[in-house]
Amino acid sequence: MPAWAYHPYRLFWQVADLLFPPRCVGCGRLGERWCAACQAQVPRLGGSSLCPACGYPLPAADEMCPTCSQGPPRWGFDEARAWAFYEGMMARVIRALKYRRRFGLGETLARALAVWARDLPWPPGCLVPVPLAPARRRARGYNQVSLVARPLAWLLKMPYCPQALQRRDGPTQVGLDWRARWHNVRRAFHAAPRVRGRIVWLVDDVMTTGATLHAAALALKRAGARAVYALTWARVPRRISPAARPTRSRSSPHVVLEPRTSSYPRREVAHVRSPR
Ligand SMILES: [Zn+2]
Ligand SMILES: [Zn+2]
Repeated sequence: MPAWAYHPYRLFWQVADLLFPPRCVGCGRLGERWCAACQAQVPRLGGSSLCPACGYPLPAADEMCPTCSQGPPRWGFDEARAWAFYEGMMARVIRALKYRRRFGLGETLARALAVWARDLPWPPGCLVPVPLAPARRRARGYNQVSLVARPLAWLLKMPYCPQALQRRDGPTQVGLDWRARWHNVRRAFHAAPRVRGRIVWLVDDVMTTGATLHAAALALKRAGARAVYALTWARVPRRISPAARPTRSRSSPHVVLEPRTSSYPRREVAHVRSPR
């Protein structure tokens, strides 16, 4: 559907809000899905002090985070950026969209994200949502990522390509530790030949270890995608090790990274990157 389709979509939600006034997901105020005051509570990730590979906030600009700086390029995607940390208000919004069927939040979030995404230093591409595994999709009835990614594509005036990526059934990533996540997802995705030569904005709700986005991006690259940029609205803050805690700064509470010993399992990633 072309970009103008956003307007009837927005109108639909405005009418729905009049008929069934929502309550703010943050403060419960009647008549708003997510009020401006509650949106303002979300600390945004931005500025120049981001890891150029994975987008994680850093204490200084123009260097990679400890995880990314270990050895040769490790990510399937070219760059990754997240709008906010997955905590507090942001976690509440994502859970409401994912588990409580607050579909209207998709449109609200897309509008907020579009303002930010227009300034990303990426060339335009087609938006591809990370799909759910078929069994999970049937059980939930919808993909919460699509509820945001579709209006976001309209607002950015970019093509929306939900069929470009397929996912096989497999165990959920929720509740798994980092090693199990990498192992679990490494063969999960298959990309359609239509992505050959194209620039892809790969869209997901939360980046945790990056394993899912990495595996999905590799599948897109194997199918011939020219570049893959990973966009999420939230990013799980990395664990702060007790030894590193004294250097934690008040202005950027999450910049202290995990110790090197707790990085991704290199053997698994090597396997993913060079399938035989
Ligand atoms: Zn509110
Ligand atoms: Zn990094």
